[in-house]
Amino acid sequence: MSRNLIFFGPPGAGKGTQAKRLMEDHSIPQISTGDILRANRSQGTELGRKAQGFMDNGKLVPDNLIIDMVDDRFGQGDCDNGWILDGFPRTVPQAVALDGLLNRRDAGVDRVVLLKVPDDDIVDRITGRRVCRTCGAPYHVTFKPPAVDGVCDADGGEVYQRADDTEEKVRVRLDEYAHNTAPVAAYFGQRGIVREIDGTGEIDEVYGRLVAVLE
Ligand code: AMP
Repeated sequence: MSRNLIFFGPPGAGKGTQAKRLMEDHSIPQISTGDILRANRSQGTELGRKAQGFMDNGKLVPDNLIIDMVDDRFGQGDCDNGWILDGFPRTVPQAVALDGLLNRRDAGVDRVVLLKVPDDDIVDRITGRRVCRTCGAPYHVTFKPPAVDGVCDADGGEVYQRADDTEEKVRVRLDEYAHNTAPVAAYFGQRGIVREIDGTGEIDEVYGRLVAVLE
């Protein structure tokens, strides 16, 4: 199975949900730049403070901050048997930088999985999305509510709504995706490693399609 993976698609396409599942089944670490940034914010680091304004407005955080952060993450030693990049690269300069830092590590991208979901579904998914503040487990008010309202099934943490998961911010984020992120698929497309899958339907169904393109 391919193990050096990029999960690609608009916000709310299910990248994080599918990445967490694959990580559990195959012990491949998920590297979510959004999760790392949120952790930096809650710890009050300098990076977290710099990223805050961009994130709250649905805008992309500057490339140099993100690239250094990912480079650090690859250096943490658990990435030798694969990784799932979730939410990175989000611009062509980030994709070029990723190639550079992988080259230095004698590694490369095996597969880019593009999760396709129509914009109208994205808005419903994101505005109903909730997440555990401590473990990051994903929920949805209609499609996947926790057993007890506001409490994570996995670790009892607080299930909350991200500040950027409002309709207004989703529109900005979709715009960022169309302008800055969609061209990244073409960048990798030239290598014949991009696989598109239908991201609509049940989580299990999407997971089945995902595993099929990784074989
Ligand atoms: P996400 O959790 O992937 O939806 O990311 C949440 C927010 O974090 C985004 O709207 C951006 O502000 C920021 N962010 C996450 N990943 C990146 C990235 N690769 N490049 C720039 N900004 C990012």
